[in-house]
Amino acid sequence: MKDIYLDWAATAPPDPDIMRIALEFSLKAYGNPSSKYWLGKEARQALEESRLRVMRSMGVTKGSLIFTSGGTEADHIPIFAILEKLKRASSAEKPMHAIISSIEHSAIEEQMRILERLGLQVSRIDPDSKGHIEAEQIESRIRKETALICIMNVNNETGAIQNIKAIAESIKETVLQKKIKKPWLHVDAVQALGKLSIRDLEDYADSFAISAHKIRGPKGVGGLWIARPLEAFIRGGGQESGMRPGTENLFGALAFSLAAEKAALSMQENQEKAIALEKRLLDGISSIPNTLALPERIPQDKGFVPSIISMAFPGLGGETMVRALSDCHIAVSTGSACMSNIHLAERRVLKAMLVPDDIAFSSIRVSTGPLTTPQDIDSFLEQAEVLYRRLKT
Ligand code: PLP
Repeated sequence: MKDIYLDWAATAPPDPDIMRIALEFSLKAYGNPSSKYWLGKEARQALEESRLRVMRSMGVTKGSLIFTSGGTEADHIPIFAILEKLKRASSAEKPMHAIISSIEHSAIEEQMRILERLGLQVSRIDPDSKGHIEAEQIESRIRKETALICIMNVNNETGAIQNIKAIAESIKETVLQKKIKKPWLHVDAVQALGKLSIRDLEDYADSFAISAHKIRGPKGVGGLWIARPLEAFIRGGGQESGMRPGTENLFGALAFSLAAEKAALSMQENQEKAIALEKRLLDGISSIPNTLALPERIPQDKGFVPSIISMAFPGLGGETMVRALSDCHIAVSTGSACMSNIHLAERRVLKAMLVPDDIAFSSIRVSTGPLTTPQDIDSFLEQAEVLYRRLKT
């Protein structure tokens, strides 16, 4: 039985050529990038070249990039940066405040829940029924105490693209009107990298997070772009300009940079492929009685990346469908891979879009990538229809 992998939003199969090049180089250049002798210098040079390569591949020319242990840590650094101020603000009259969307990845949502326990006030903005966040919704929540705003670029469950430019511009206008300090705007761009151009983020965001394993790089390495230095909460040997201490992961950084370069070079081709697969998938879903895309969308809807689609099989639990498809060697997931461990029962994203519980619980997520073929989609649709007919109540 051929494996059919339709869970690229969870992780992408690593590119073997890239992994080999990075492994071979890091075996040779094993020095600590902070060491002053030739081995350290060689490692340092490769690390800095990798940094520039990631920046160049995104078309970003301003600010700086810090290598992290992945998207999660890149999301945490700007959040942790407000911790010190939080302590000071807790004795003030009005507690410190943050605004996030209610559809953020657990990397943001779960960390915010901890900070709430430490006294931070968090406003969560619900999306509309299509999963989009309206700038006005954020605007009305901004106040003097608002220190941080986190909005993701592309949602990992629905593929909804947020209009970061409109959001950033409205934040700017609001703080001017209210004559208050502009909050730090952090964008989780983990699912955007490689799928759409994120070059503009350098003009609108104060920081954004990216991750290597979503673009065929290795797991456990990511990046945080920052417009200007942050007050780091985590301290150590001062690596990565003091913002992410710890001996740098040269293998990871190099492989990430090569994957980012390749993803940028093939972005157009990959997008065209993804659009064709999206149409095939959406047409296929609509031809299976009762099934529907979540949210309902038409092919090439500009509000979504074509490669991530959630769909519902009413009357059949999403988990059951995932397991049944797995028995046929077809890999899909129920929402986010991380969510399924922590909040299996939550279905937070679909709930926020006011999808009825029974529909949300019957949903699965299908995500495609550069290696997905039309035949993969056809096999999925064929099996899903058979299983749905057999298993639904
Ligand atoms: N943010 C989003 C939107 C994601 O989809 C993910 C991974 O699923 C992450 C953050 C976390 O990235 P990482 O797995 O590299 O920690």
